[in-house]
Amino acid sequence: MLFDTHAHLNATQFSEDVEQVIERARAEGVSHIVVVGFDRPTIQRAMELAEKYPFIYAAVGWHPVDAIHMTDEDLVMIERLAAHPKVVALGEMGLDYYWDQSPKDVQKEVFRKQIRLAKKVKLPIIIHNRDATADIVDILREERAEEVGGVMHCFSGSIEVARQCMDMNFYISFGGPVTFKNAKKPKEVAKEIPLDRLLIETDCPYLTPHPFRGKRNEPSYVKYIAEAIAELKGLSFEEVAQKTSDNAKRLFGIV
Ligand SMILES: [Zn+2]
Repeated sequence: MLFDTHAHLNATQFSEDVEQVIERARAEGVSHIVVVGFDRPTIQRAMELAEKYPFIYAAVGWHPVDAIHMTDEDLVMIERLAAHPKVVALGEMGLDYYWDQSPKDVQKEVFRKQIRLAKKVKLPIIIHNRDATADIVDILREERAEEVGGVMHCFSGSIEVARQCMDMNFYISFGGPVTFKNAKKPKEVAKEIPLDRLLIETDCPYLTPHPFRGKRNEPSYVKYIAEAIAELKGLSFEEVAQKTSDNAKRLFGIV
């Protein structure tokens, strides 16, 4: 069994063939998928998929790149959906200083509002971080995000930052980059993270692992992440698959 903790089957790249993509994932042993929403249409599509497939769950949240467009009504919608039995987390949320589409102060406010909401509805949070590590860690600490915990999605930071996040009750999730030949840092960090704090993800359709780098990513490729981590840690594929699934179920409250 494999648990893809971060997939965007709700993205337009899958609008033509999502059913075949899901079938391939099942055939490759993917037992659970969290489809992550990040704006109005993708939240709606994540809910549709979670309602249709018993092994698909939804996360609902607002991406920092698009923070300027989140309204109070959107936050009310997220709060309403949080009560749905297939919604297992809020997110993705966070800070993105790479794309210059929403001012930093707006991103921070939208991030803080979603953390506060997660604490109110008692759901873990999925964190997107791009070039904003120090501010993310500060805000998680100031908002006492450890009360709900969550996952640092597609982690690319240092082991020191990973430890700070684990101390705040966060899991560390790795995707395609741990399979890249030239990616030293994620490999070194993944090797150091205790197996009981590790999660795996595709972040599909993006960040396609080796050997399909450059093509569209999909949940069936999550096995390549598990394989890479097993090799780095000197463990069996089965153990990594099982433990990361157990971790994800614990985090998302799936029995
Ligand atoms: Zn994502």
